[in-house]
Amino acid sequence: KVDSAATAVPVLQHTALKDIPVGVKRLHDAFHQKQKSHSVQYRLNQLRNVYFKIKDNIDPICEALLKDFHRVPAETKNLEISGGLAELVHTMASLHKWVKPEPVTDLPLTLKSQPVFIERIPLGVVLIISPFNYPFFLSLSAIIGAIAAGNAVVFKPSELTPHFSQLFTELLTEALDEDIFFAINGGIPETTAALDQKYDKIMYTGNNTVGTIIAKKAAETLTPVILELGGKSPAFILDDVTDKDLQVAARRIAWGRFTNAGQTCVAVDYVLVPEDKKAKFVNAIVKVLGEEFYPELNKDNKDLTHVIHDRAFANITNIIKTTKGKIVFGGKSDAESRFIEPTVIDNVDWDDSTMSGEIFGPVLPILTYTNLSESLSKLQSRHDTPLAQYIFTSGPTSRTKNPQIDTILKAVRSGGTIVNDVLMHVALVNAPFGGIGNSGQGAYHGWFSFRHFTHERTTMEQKLWNDFLLAPRYPPFTAKKNAV
Ligand code: NAD
Repeated sequence: KVDSAATAVPVLQHTALKDIPVGVKRLHDAFHQKQKSHSVQYRLNQLRNVYFKIKDNIDPICEALLKDFHRVPAETKNLEISGGLAELVHTMASLHKWVKPEPVTDLPLTLKSQPVFIERIPLGVVLIISPFNYPFFLSLSAIIGAIAAGNAVVFKPSELTPHFSQLFTELLTEALDEDIFFAINGGIPETTAALDQKYDKIMYTGNNTVGTIIAKKAAETLTPVILELGGKSPAFILDDVTDKDLQVAARRIAWGRFTNAGQTCVAVDYVLVPEDKKAKFVNAIVKVLGEEFYPELNKDNKDLTHVIHDRAFANITNIIKTTKGKIVFGGKSDAESRFIEPTVIDNVDWDDSTMSGEIFGPVLPILTYTNLSESLSKLQSRHDTPLAQYIFTSGPTSRTKNPQIDTILKAVRSGGTIVNDVLMHVALVNAPFGGIGNSGQGAYHGWFSFRHFTHERTTMEQKLWNDFLLAPRYPPFTAKKNAV
């Protein structure tokens, strides 16, 4: 029998509100007075400690997430642990290269022989607030970026994964120096108390409503923010997709929608398929779900993650109930375990309940088009800047060779895009991952995390013997000096 968050004994020990300003001050003081993290070796030692702490605790981490929302350990390993560790290794291997000052080129004549470079210096103390849906990967990736960049980290994980958050904060607190790490556990009161402190940067990953709260609060103290938010990411099936490829597209889309019960920020939120391919696509995805992925469709199926809380359960089941489309797969749910069957809805219109916002649950609306440009106009009229978009084609995969891909990419600005696959760009250790417009600002992973968590300080080293070369800048501005 698997625990659910609703029935489990409360395991998350909330941080006392009075301890929050004290903990944050500890990091600020240590950063300024001890200056340990200016040493690259110190940063590497800290990262190495994290690496071994995680390696030794992979099974407990997976167990915690199984308890929190019935997530199968294999999925936690595939989707979170392997990507997190890969990024950690990549960061450790690259840090010496990243910290090297970058020479500035194309210098004016007067500076040609002088050192001019960009130095990437730590920001100070950063606050990282992370969500429940991929709590390991999203937290670890941000934390290692910040530490590699030489910062101290105040970390606030989601209260919605109590088993995980308690364990993970304990592990990191053991692994990291208390001068550079302070974990805060709890809900809104604790997060609010954390936000009442001053930071040098705040990184928030989660929903857009709270993202707005964070941005407003940060603006009061002119604190820069990275916001990793949600969105409604489409998958386009192009009219050149062959019947055989349609099967593959259906399988990939099904995985990209239903993994983690659809609680994935870059999940396929809806599919746009040509009218004359719709029937075949529906058949294909129903077959994938019913025969390949989930032949046993019930709440005890270990391969099916459940929805995180009752409010989300109510929202998603309400969307299913009020849809004007036709349910062609799934549709049933169990409130007690917060299990919702993977649900595919056909004949959906742009004004359907499924299209009003990010679904963030196991529901896939299928829309059709006869004219791609009209669909794109619809998307544009909603000012949609999704976190991701996916395009399936049997033709060339490059926008320079496939005009339909080019048309879509010009029309829809998105955080990331993949041709013929889903989700996988998030796992790239050294490509920027982030949103645009409503789906967020700032991007991270690998080098891009390092850049975001450092300040780029331009540094010039002038000599004092060469003042004669600089004479034209000093008054009086005689005609001779002004002869450019
Ligand atoms: P969540 O409820 O776990 O909240 C995220 C964090 O915000 C938590 O740490 C929580 O304690 C804090 N929080 C909640 N209410 C707050 C408040 N009033 N004031 C201050 N802090 C508060 O997770 P969620 O927001 O439901 O996550 C799902 C959303 O996040 C989806 O929209 C998803 O698309 C998005 N998301 C985006 C990314 C990305 O990388 N862009 C990744 C994951 C999730």
